[in-house]
Amino acid sequence: MHDDRNLVEARLKRVLDERIRPAVYPEAVPLEVTVWHAPGEPVPVAEGLAAVPEPIAVGDRWGAPWGTSWFTVTGTVPVEWAGRSVEAILDLGFDENMPGFQCEGLVYRPDGTPVKGLNPRNQWVRVGAPVEGGEEVRLHVEAASNPVILDYHPFLPTKLGDKETAGTEPQYRLARMDLAVFDEVVWQLVIDLEVLGELMRELPVEGARRWEILRAVERALDAVDLQDVNGTAAAAREHLAGVLATPAEPSAHRISAVGHAHIDSAWLWPLRETVRKVARTTSNMTALLEDEPDFVFAMSQAQQWAWVKEHRPEVWARVTKAVAAGRFVPTGGMWVESDTNMPGSEAMARQFVHGKRFFLDEFGIENDEVWLPDTFGFAAGLPQIIKAAGAKRLLTQKISWSQTNKFPHHTFLWEGIDGTRIFTHFPPVDTYNCSMKGSEIAHAARNFKDKGVARHSLAPTGWGDGGGGTTREMVAKAARLRDLEGSATVTWETPADFFAKAEAEYPNPPVWVGELYLELHRATLTSQAKTKQGNRRSESLLREAELWAATAAVRTGHPYPYEQLDRIWKMVLLHQFHDILPGSSIAWVHREAERTYAAVAVELGGVIDAAQRALAGDPSSGGQLVFNAAPHARHGVAAGGASAAVAERAVDLRPRDGGGYVLDNGLLRVEIDEHGLVRSAYDLAAERESVAPGRAANLLQIHPDFPNMWDAWDVDEFYRNTVTDLVDADEVAPGDEPGSVRVVRSFGSSKAVQSLSLSGKRLDIRTEVDWHETEKFLKLAFPLDVHAERYASESQYGHAHRATHTNTSWEAAKFEACNHRFVHMEEPGWGVALVTDSTYGHDVTRTVRAEDSGTTTTLRISLLRAPRFPDPETDQGVHRFHHALVPGATIGDAVREGYFVNLPERRVPGAAEVPPLVTIDNDAVVVTAVKLADDGSGDVIVRFHEAHGGRARATLTAGFPVTGVSATDLLERPLAQPRREGNTVALALRPFELVTLRLSR
Ligand SMILES: [Zn+2]
Repeated sequence: MHDDRNLVEARLKRVLDERIRPAVYPEAVPLEVTVWHAPGEPVPVAEGLAAVPEPIAVGDRWGAPWGTSWFTVTGTVPVEWAGRSVEAILDLGFDENMPGFQCEGLVYRPDGTPVKGLNPRNQWVRVGAPVEGGEEVRLHVEAASNPVILDYHPFLPTKLGDKETAGTEPQYRLARMDLAVFDEVVWQLVIDLEVLGELMRELPVEGARRWEILRAVERALDAVDLQDVNGTAAAAREHLAGVLATPAEPSAHRISAVGHAHIDSAWLWPLRETVRKVARTTSNMTALLEDEPDFVFAMSQAQQWAWVKEHRPEVWARVTKAVAAGRFVPTGGMWVESDTNMPGSEAMARQFVHGKRFFLDEFGIENDEVWLPDTFGFAAGLPQIIKAAGAKRLLTQKISWSQTNKFPHHTFLWEGIDGTRIFTHFPPVDTYNCSMKGSEIAHAARNFKDKGVARHSLAPTGWGDGGGGTTREMVAKAARLRDLEGSATVTWETPADFFAKAEAEYPNPPVWVGELYLELHRATLTSQAKTKQGNRRSESLLREAELWAATAAVRTGHPYPYEQLDRIWKMVLLHQFHDILPGSSIAWVHREAERTYAAVAVELGGVIDAAQRALAGDPSSGGQLVFNAAPHARHGVAAGGASAAVAERAVDLRPRDGGGYVLDNGLLRVEIDEHGLVRSAYDLAAERESVAPGRAANLLQIHPDFPNMWDAWDVDEFYRNTVTDLVDADEVAPGDEPGSVRVVRSFGSSKAVQSLSLSGKRLDIRTEVDWHETEKFLKLAFPLDVHAERYASESQYGHAHRATHTNTSWEAAKFEACNHRFVHMEEPGWGVALVTDSTYGHDVTRTVRAEDSGTTTTLRISLLRAPRFPDPETDQGVHRFHHALVPGATIGDAVREGYFVNLPERRVPGAAEVPPLVTIDNDAVVVTAVKLADDGSGDVIVRFHEAHGGRARATLTAGFPVTGVSATDLLERPLAQPRREGNTVALALRPFELVTLRLSR
């Protein structure tokens, strides 16, 4: 037979596009339209409905960037349409390829109850099915004229990303406001042809199935009268019924479709817009659930649920009803889908505490799965936290975005730093926005790496990023793919049902040990420095606030600010969302974040101050107390206590031969040359030099940094090809602080002022940069005389190792990586740490010296970038950093000094020494939180972990009478009863083991 395949396929495309799809709405009449443009920020629904509108016509422009326009549409259903299905078609000027990234609307009835959301792929509102004819129609649309930030030519700098710079130019043109007859038979024919046409293209040309479908499609097209599609659609469908009815092969891949809308809690829109995005999507999804009995929708991020509850009670009522029916499903158990590289130990834990508690309190639902489809890599500390939160499964698809290496599994056990293993699934569909396209389904089946031993995968299905969710078209396609020859099977299922099947069929999955590093978006560890500093500072302040408030409550009866801390925690957790903390949001988001963090600092400062004053006693006593919130004693002050402190070691500052200065405190001797570079950092006790021979530490280096795409997200490896060492100093002189050296440098349009000083074994480096560069990357380099194959960087509740070399493509791809408070490297018997109060990115490289064959391992801290998308002014302005080099540091020293630079001592007038609430007699066991129990019982919660990577025995002593002790999970629910003797508990911890104890009073 002659091969006419291309001819039939082209015919299918043209007839669908030009004749059949347009016939879905065969008749239409225009609606009357009026509009009220809200003058500023969004207004309450009642205000929008009550406003006096003005006329507007289809074709008119509307919508200043970030504005809100309330459209009112009115009309009468023609009497001759009696008995037919009628819908309102409301096209605000959509570009159908960008759902969630442009204008959107929420439709209300005149009484203010929401109907459903409008987006480019969802422009219809049902009027009646069928109508009687003559009905009066009146609908209101709260339309958001969110500007397009990520356009067809993406990553171009734009001022549209902040209301303050976006201007007032209307962004959209009203395209269609009609009442129309909806011909469901034609719509079904469209779905039939789409499903078969898409499946056909994925099937082997050599196979009979492809040709059977092709011939059926051809017969259907023959049956369509192009001048009377509506009259012939039913007959055309009959020709397709046979090929749609043949069942899938027994070995077909099985896809669990989960209705979903991945909604970024902020990104190319501000937080306040996400509140509305969630309302639109949840309105759509509750409406779709009512129409489609098999459909299941899952929504993560407790914060988004809380927004619906607070801001849209009408939608919340519909959501809770659907939750009770088991079809609108809370998934995951975190407050937001956060970044997991940068959040500190306690913050990562609290993401789960607040997320899980919301679902438990509202619905009595506790999930086993963690839902993070879009997060930019996964720290190796996470598995233990997942387990401690009472969960055991993880879902993400993001690692499929890695540029270099293909991950070897889709279903596997992920093992973290302490040995905890979590059952993990990467949907092989490689998207969180599956739309049930044949190409997606076929890709999932082909791509699945665990074929032969496993058969199930999950497909998050619905428009995401900017929201929208699943459409009726996706549901209709899924129905046809339920059991169809040539395709994977598709069943709507909850994430929990999927995981139960996946675990049951795959009892011994392969194991991946260590972090799930995303080989992309590495610059998210550095972009928007102020957001990152705000996070780190807030985490530290929350630790202090809980510690001192709990201490004051137990010691003095000072009221514990439960609700205030709860609210602030949730605010800080929200800002760890995977486009806020990573620095990949528009300018508006980061401008607001800076203000929010400042307010958080003021408020927590007040909590800390009030608690410390309550503890310190009479301020007029003339004494001074030093409060030490760190987990280790310093300057004679106990960890978590307050007392008089012993003085810091005196520092000798003297001129250096050949220029510059020498700092010496008997532990450390540091030589700073005439350029302000550190030529020597000598550990006097060990008689050991830190800086590689002939090299200089504290070296600022600047690189051009213009990635191929995703400017705020990505730094591409070629950035290293060009580097400028900033060695010229404007000034090197003794600083204002005694025993410090001040270094001033100008470069480009920027200026850096540094202060170098000694504190114990630390060389403290405080850097202030007034940054006015474009598309540059600023690093602070420390070439160290250390020979080590691997180095450690702090993660949650411990640290993880990475290679210093690039033997494999996996190691080479980690050319920019995450640290919390420290990076540490060592040879047996001697190590060195670099600690930081606020930066997260770093890189480590090694070279071998010709002169002495020694190894130079260079650690570079990432300070600042200057990408121009999505925020064209990213990081412009003044930034302050505190880093310290710690020569001779063991891993324990790195842990301790890391805490010290993040938790400065506080001096408070008073005489009443404050003994710690809790003491642990082994420095390897590090307390991460002391607080009162969230249940208001007054019990003291203490959380700690083994921090050196070894085993630890210790005794915990409570500084108050204890009546009972229990080990709990992160949600403070009892797990076990440790042996207690009076106020002490004997501890034995595994490497990195995390423990939470509840001490009853
Ligand atoms: Zn996302």
